[in-house]
Amino acid sequence: MRSRSLGETLRASHVAVTVASPSAWYRQSMTARVLVIEDEVDLATTLEYNLRSEGLQVQLAYTGRQGLTAATTDPLPDVIVLDLMLPDIAGTEICRRLREQERTRDVPIIMCTAKGEEIDRVVGFEVGADDYMVKPYSVRELVLRIRAQLKHRVQRSGPESVRLRYGVLELDPDAHRAWVEGAEIALTALEFRLLHTFVSRRGRVQTREALLRDVWGIDADVTTRTVDTHVKRLREKLGAANAYIETLRGVGYRFAGDESGDG
Ligand code: CA
Repeated sequence: MRSRSLGETLRASHVAVTVASPSAWYRQSMTARVLVIEDEVDLATTLEYNLRSEGLQVQLAYTGRQGLTAATTDPLPDVIVLDLMLPDIAGTEICRRLREQERTRDVPIIMCTAKGEEIDRVVGFEVGADDYMVKPYSVRELVLRIRAQLKHRVQRSGPESVRLRYGVLELDPDAHRAWVEGAEIALTALEFRLLHTFVSRRGRVQTREALLRDVWGIDADVTTRTVDTHVKRLREKLGAANAYIETLRGVGYRFAGDESGDG
């Protein structure tokens, strides 16, 4: 009974991946498209100039409303640089709305803000941002962060689609989608990367430091507490599969899902 509905789900997902893979455009042109949502015109112009000279395509939006329209119009951006304080809609709200939509759910978002407290950082990640820059930041640093996000994206969208199945959990690393008991769960790009890292190293201890390095990237300005926040959130989303991620007190985590057959 379950395998049939799962099969239908997988067939449906195959069609969706073929028709609407957001990374197809990037693979074809190899010129990444960056959407900058920033109301400070001078800063936006500076970013546009510098990102273009780095060989990136740039689209500017000066308000949240413009940004949302640009972010959801084809061709979709490969990365979004999003200012937190915008005149009409808060960056966190834009982030939330983009994460709610199937098409834009996995587009990497780098959140920018003038405030740098840890709490802001957590709030930024909580609403689905993949990275975080504190103003004033160097353009060079932003370019590195953008490159890191694009690299993750290319790694996620290799030519072969291999489905991983562990107990009630199923992953499609190519489409970065996940299912629990046949029902798809909504994960941010970062959450999917975290889950995929766990699954690929099942049975092995993952320290917070190793997860920070491999999931967030060595340059990410986050602390090990961020790892805990994300694992907690991932567990909540995993529902029936949440026990697969074990906490090893004082050490880190381990994914303990049993690999099931291909049938
Ligand atoms: Ca602003």
